[in-house]
Formats: sequence, structure tokens, C-alpha cells
Amino acid sequence: MTKAKGYAAQSAKADLTPWNFERREVGPHDVQFDILFCGVCHSDLHQVKDEWGGSIFPMVPGHELVGKVTKVGEHVKKHKVGDLVGVGCMVDSCRTCDNCKEGLEQFCKEGSTMTYNGYERDKKTPTYGGYSNVVVVNEDFVLKVSDKLNLAAVAPLLCAGITTYSPLRHWKVGKGHKLGVLGLGGLGHMAVKFGVAFGAEVTVLSSSASKKEDAFKLGAHKFVVTKDEAQFKSVAGYFDFILDTVSAEHNYNQYMSLLSTNGVHICVGAPPTPSEISSISLIMGRKSLAGSLIGGIPETQEMLDFCAEHNIVSEIELIDIKDINKAYERMLRSDVRYRFVIDIATL
Ligand code: NAP
Ligand code: ZN
Ligand code: ZN
Repeated sequence: MTKAKGYAAQSAKADLTPWNFERREVGPHDVQFDILFCGVCHSDLHQVKDEWGGSIFPMVPGHELVGKVTKVGEHVKKHKVGDLVGVGCMVDSCRTCDNCKEGLEQFCKEGSTMTYNGYERDKKTPTYGGYSNVVVVNEDFVLKVSDKLNLAAVAPLLCAGITTYSPLRHWKVGKGHKLGVLGLGGLGHMAVKFGVAFGAEVTVLSSSASKKEDAFKLGAHKFVVTKDEAQFKSVAGYFDFILDTVSAEHNYNQYMSLLSTNGVHICVGAPPTPSEISSISLIMGRKSLAGSLIGGIPETQEMLDFCAEHNIVSEIELIDIKDINKAYERMLRSDVRYRFVIDIATL
């Protein structure tokens, strides 16, 4: 076993504190790497606080890992010592079901192995995430990262990036489309960058008037303060797509009114409490309410390559790991601009 250190929550009520644990020995198909940076996703907070239920403790969160390979197993072909690599939300899957075969490992019919707050394929060994110094992952779930981009700012691509890239690609959002991005946080700001890169007209729908200037810097074409009734009404029936990244309870019916005929409201935000949706909101204008979960491994690599080619990274605030609990508090106040990334050297 390899000694590892990280930050863990010992229970849903506890802050994150230093914790030592072990990683498995490098197997024939495994890659071991030193984690250099790890992004902080709102899903980390939902799971640490057990807001979705079923959380496993102790929990080392973190599913936006980037680092440098230090060891590879004897059969590893895809990566070598010294390579820059990344790992996102998954570290394994069954590999044999229809979804896995199609590269949709996130929808593995036997359940994919999540990077943390999950169990390995043996269904009993817990997984631990990226708020830690070292990790061992099967080579097929390790992504290649370009050395042309700022590595710390690449980390959030592994979740915030793929989670917004994938639905925009699936629904072929691009030129001629009006895209509304609801919520300008970690996911939202990546959705703006991708929407603009794909040629859509992008409007940020935000509850924070103070984010207006940043939205335009990110490339957005319009900015609407959702709490302002006049501004809200000005975009009624306007959007072909809304990508909803909001982490807290909100009224979907209200936002459906902003869609044009045949418009699609795509949920990626995962508020813990269920919402009511009136079928009238869908019937009037033949609208759809849809959802999307991260993205498969091949598409994640495609997204990373796209970002390297188009010079796209996350806007980050690099933090010391000892400030992680404060970062969570700020995230709860929608005060993240636009992704916290932990500098693992501070561990
Ligand atoms: P984040 O950085 O905290 O951003 C969330 C944003 O939502 C906030 O910045 C805020 O934007 C808006 N917001 C928050 N509370 C709100 C409220 N009460 N009413 C209206 N707007 C509110 O979070 P994130 O990391 O981007 O994650 C967003 C959500 O996506 C989380 O629920 C997370 O679990 C989920 N997620 C899903 C997937 C997936 O695969 N589907 C992957 C990753 C994350 P404004 O200030 O602009 O209003
Ligand atoms: Zn995430
Ligand atoms: Zn599968």
C-alpha cells in the first residue's frame, strides 16, 4: 500500500480536517500520480454535508484532479512517468454494458465507480478523492492533459468543463441558437465559454447583479438579473436552450417561461430538494425539461483536447487546503469567481 495524506470529513456535521490513509499498490493496468491541483465542485459540498443521502465517511472529496505520473503498471500503454494527467468524477465502470461500450461510462448499467464517496468494483473498498497528495487509477480512466495550458486552471475542466461541454454537444448548441446559462458559478462560467466557442448567442441569467462585468469578460452577449422583474420579462419566450447550473432550490416553471417554442431546459445543477413542475409549463410551446450527467471518458478527452486547441481554461481562485471550509462557506453564498482550486503543495 502507498501512504497518502489528505483532507477528509469524518461525518456530515464535521469540517474537513487532515487525514492519513492508504492507496492501493500500482497494479498492472494502474497509473499512480502526484496530485498537484484539485478543483472544488459544489457536488463536493452536497456530498460532504450528505445532502443527497447515502454519503460514506470518512470522505476525502475532490473529482477535478490534475498531476504528474510517478509510476505505471507493467501493462500500461496510455501513460508514462512524467506525463501530465487528469481524473474526473469516475475511476472505473463495468466496461461491458451497452453504455460503457459506447463511451457513456457515466451511465454504466452496473453503476460507475465514482472517484470518491463510492466503492471500487469489489463493492466494499471505499474510494477517496483529490483533496490529497497521491492517487492510483486504472489507466483507462486517466485523461491526457496538455502542457500548453495553466495546469491549475485545467483542473476544473475535469468536472465543470465536461458537465457543460457534454450537453451543449449533445443538443448541438451553436450558431443561430440563443443559449441562457442559469447561474454563474463553476459550471455556469464554463458553459458561457463553451457556448461562445460553439457560436451561440449566450445570455447569463444570474441572481447576482455584481457578476455582470465578469459575464461580459467571459464572452457573454447579454446579462439578466433574474431577481429584477423587468429584466426577467424582457427575455420571456427568448431562449432555444437554458443550461441550468443552479445548486439550490428554484422554480423551474418560472424559467420554462423564458424558452421559445420547442425550447429545452437542461438541468445539470443538482439541488438536493425536489421541485414541482407543472405540465402546463411544458405543454405551452412544446417544451422539454432534460438533464445531463458529466460526460463519458472519450468525450472528456475530446473536451480537454478542444480546450487545449482553443485555449480554454477555468477562471480560478487558488487556495491553501487549510482554507477549504471557508471556501465552502463562500460557495454557499454564491461568492465563487469562478472556481476554487486547491494548491496541493499546501497540504
Ligand atoms: P457553484 O459554483 O456554487 O455555482 C452555483 C451557482 O448557482 C451560484 O454561483 C449562483 O449563481 C447560483 N445559485 C446558487 N444558489 C442560488 C439560488 N438560491 N437561487 C438562484 N441561483 C442560485 O456550483 P457548481 O460547482 O457550478 O455546481 C452547480 C450545481 O451543479 C451543483 O448542484 C452541483 O452539484 C451540480 N453538478 C452537477 C453535475 C452533473 O453532472 N450534472 C456535475 C457537477 C456539478 P448566480 O450568483 O449567478 O445566481
Ligand atoms: Zn463536480
Ligand atoms: Zn457498464
